[in-house]
Amino acid sequence: MTREERKLRKHVDAHARYEGRKVQKQAAAIRKAGEIKRPRPRLDLRTTDWEDFEDPGDIPAFEPGRPLAARRKPEPASTPGLVLGIGPGACQVLSRAEPVHCRLLPGLAVGDRVLLSKRGIEEILPRTTVLSRPDPHNPHVERVIAANIDAVVIVASARAPAFRPGLVDRYLIAIERSGAEPVLCVNKIDLLEAGEQLSDLAPYHDLGLAIVRCSANTGHGLDLFLERLAGKLCVLVGHSGVGKSSLLNALHPELALATGAVSEANQKGRHTTSSSRLYEIPNGPSIIDTPGIREFGLWDVSPGELRRHFHEFDAHAGACAFADCTHTHEPDCAVKQAVEAGVIPMARYRAYCRILQQDKLPAGPS
Ligand code: GDP
Ligand code: ZN
Repeated sequence: MTREERKLRKHVDAHARYEGRKVQKQAAAIRKAGEIKRPRPRLDLRTTDWEDFEDPGDIPAFEPGRPLAARRKPEPASTPGLVLGIGPGACQVLSRAEPVHCRLLPGLAVGDRVLLSKRGIEEILPRTTVLSRPDPHNPHVERVIAANIDAVVIVASARAPAFRPGLVDRYLIAIERSGAEPVLCVNKIDLLEAGEQLSDLAPYHDLGLAIVRCSANTGHGLDLFLERLAGKLCVLVGHSGVGKSSLLNALHPELALATGAVSEANQKGRHTTSSSRLYEIPNGPSIIDTPGIREFGLWDVSPGELRRHFHEFDAHAGACAFADCTHTHEPDCAVKQAVEAGVIPMARYRAYCRILQQDKLPAGPS
């Protein structure tokens, strides 16, 4: 080997060592990032003793703003708790049959099961069901309305404010994605004329949706309401003014929740409930009351998923000329033909088109 060759070999070897170290460093960095991103092991719900919880009885009203435990490093020793109420910056958790106040964790929702230490909430346990919507101010952020619920009760009113199916159509999609059971509660039926039927309900009957007609004022239908939801954790959702708080008062008068008069001018309720709260109905269901909303957006639903949530389309979509037919502009669309023939309710088809047009649905499974 000449001197020149030896010099070149030395140079090549040095370069190989340098490259080797670089690759090792990169591999270490990737491993470290993986460790950071890997979630902490979660507790299996079956290992916690929820069954041992005592009946919380009458829970005092939620008072946000009480001093809260400072959060530093997570503490290992933890007690199970159930989130009862959420207010600005704070939440109330039922732990060892006592309601305690804790600092709010991002993403926490009423119905969440948590692990607590002396300092506050250490961990949110895995959820069985999640009802979500996009944050009205930032559609990229998920807002969890309630967690671990068995049923979602869409409360609507027969009159004052008039029945508005638009919100029902949207909620049905969010509920199907949540994993909970949907129930439609049509309140204020005392305001209907004798024998008057709400024709707008027909498509929901045909879908097989459980519908409870009731009146918080007269108590009519409340037995059916209780029967259907017995032993369940459910959440009441709907526009303000439909009578969610009045229903809770009718089911458990000691709650004495504030209710709001519906303004004559716009037939819309005032927002009387400003935070979400779980109530135990003696010998009845646990019910989460939520603030009334004006609009309900859909969280993370692609256009392809949207059309699969309209189950009236199921029997027809397979006969469309295009496998990925959106049932809007395509020729030979069996869904549109079924709408024209009156087999699919026009109101439901219009609801589908409206959501497809109005919502900025993210791209996703077609
Ligand atoms: P929320 O915003 O959904 O909680 O509605 P509220 O419970 O505050 O009720 C709004 C208004 O509707 C109040 O004036 C109630 O008195 C009235 N309301 C509630 N339920 C009924 C009902 O069954 N019949 C009638 N006629 N009015 C009701
Ligand atoms: Zn089609």
